[in-house]
Amino acid sequence: MNQRYDAIIIGAGIIGTPIAYELCQMGYKTLNIDKLPDAGEGSTAASCAIVRAHYSTEDGVAMAYEGFKYWLDWENYLGNVRDEKGLAKYMNTGSILIKSQGHDWRKVQKHYDAVGVAYEEWDNDKIMEMVPVYDMHEFWPVKRPEDPEFFNEPIKMLEGALFCPEGGYVNDPALSTHNVMRAAEARGGKFIFNAEVNAVRSRDNQVLGVTLKDGTQIDAPVVVNAAGPHSYKINQMAEGVYEGCNIKTKALRHEVMHCPSPEGYDYLNKGYHTSDGDIACYYRPEVGNMFLIGSEDPDCDPQEWVDPDEFYAGKGGHGRDNQLTEEQWKAQTYRCAKRVPSMKIPNQPRGVCDLYDCSDDWIPIYDKSDMQGFYMAIGTSGNQYKNAPVVGAMMAELIDACEKGLDHDKDPFQFTLRHIGRRFNVGFFSRNREINYDSSFSVNG
Ligand SMILES: Cc1cc2nc3c(=O)[nH]c(=O)nc-3n(C[C@H](O)[C@H](O)[C@H](O)COP(=O)(O)OP(=O)(O)OC[C@H]3O[C@@H](n4cnc5c(N)ncnc54)[C@H](O)[C@@H]3O)c2cc1C
Repeated sequence: MNQRYDAIIIGAGIIGTPIAYELCQMGYKTLNIDKLPDAGEGSTAASCAIVRAHYSTEDGVAMAYEGFKYWLDWENYLGNVRDEKGLAKYMNTGSILIKSQGHDWRKVQKHYDAVGVAYEEWDNDKIMEMVPVYDMHEFWPVKRPEDPEFFNEPIKMLEGALFCPEGGYVNDPALSTHNVMRAAEARGGKFIFNAEVNAVRSRDNQVLGVTLKDGTQIDAPVVVNAAGPHSYKINQMAEGVYEGCNIKTKALRHEVMHCPSPEGYDYLNKGYHTSDGDIACYYRPEVGNMFLIGSEDPDCDPQEWVDPDEFYAGKGGHGRDNQLTEEQWKAQTYRCAKRVPSMKIPNQPRGVCDLYDCSDDWIPIYDKSDMQGFYMAIGTSGNQYKNAPVVGAMMAELIDACEKGLDHDKDPFQFTLRHIGRRFNVGFFSRNREINYDSSFSVNG
């Protein structure tokens, strides 16, 4: 006899674990399956885990703002569960969005007003008072250090920033996922690790369950693809699902750099998360008084789409290909050093490298599929860590409604954001949508 569950979730990252946690609370018997040894060890482990509200669509802003409320109340969200590894910490630094040509900040501000996001307007003097190491000159347009114009002296000043006091980052994204796993287990959820799904079984277009690499079959009437950068591979295992999606996903390599803070400046305790479209970088404090520097993927930078199996197998099959490239290290750190001129850039690249599970328009797919019982929480495009607890609640309610007969394609499920009370049309994330040209087509979503 095969083992049987009400729902199987493929993946135990920050997207798959909250879905399980919420389904368990609704009475579902769930099983998360992950081929890695523990929860959150996939791309989540390398996440910058920044929690900010600026997105290019009003729905994107609403969802992210809802997410703030979970991180600010983490213990309660987890039902005060005990985790032997301890709890992840929300570092509520506040979040600065520089007003620049690289972000449509006026649109963001309009969305903040519509959603009710708490924010302040800071002029350059206020920014300099709060972050004395910043140089508020405009460096636009974004260039690479090989460009002869890269080192031109700036002339104009920027216009200030929008500051969200509730923003910040989570200190340990893998641990936060482990916390959610423990919370799900406390409600009856099961997890298996070092177990790779290599087939999704179905009959008459109804999902039946999955088969593991070792041949084990596990049955469930609901299967959720939460496989991160492998999402398209899982969709290809489920008959007709990949072909049935108008929006597709693929894996993009992404490098994050760590660079020491200027001497004498306590960035770790006094710094803010900052999104800086003027130099196409986002940065936040990191352990060791470091600047953690991510890229907003400007047009002048190359994009490297990869096969996730090859990336995680690494060179010669020796594990994750975590090598930073000299060129990208230079590009990201030199750009950041324009804003923080006293920053000292070491000779050796330091940081992490992992994969975004990117959708065609950088907006996720949170949806059912063309196969009855098969659901997707994929295409998180480098920007959905912050939203994961919201996604868990939304996906669980969507699954439950569809399993009880809702035709979500015809009559899209309306989800109420629990904290901010706003109604949300889940059809926004449909696999059948046309490309959303309101998107920034970048990590900013
Ligand atoms: C470098 C980087 C920086 C980021 N920074 C931010 C940020 O600052 N803020 C933000 O909001 N978001 C950020 N993100 C995005 C965010 O981290 C991701 O959206 C999120 O972690 C994705 O979670 P996931 O659970 O979908 O994927 P994963 O964590 O990758 O989990 C998927 C799991 O599925 C498993 N799996 C895959 N295939 C199989 C199979 N066949 N069988 C069994 N298991 C399988 C994998 O082992 C993996 O553990 C960043 C992402 C990266 C890569």
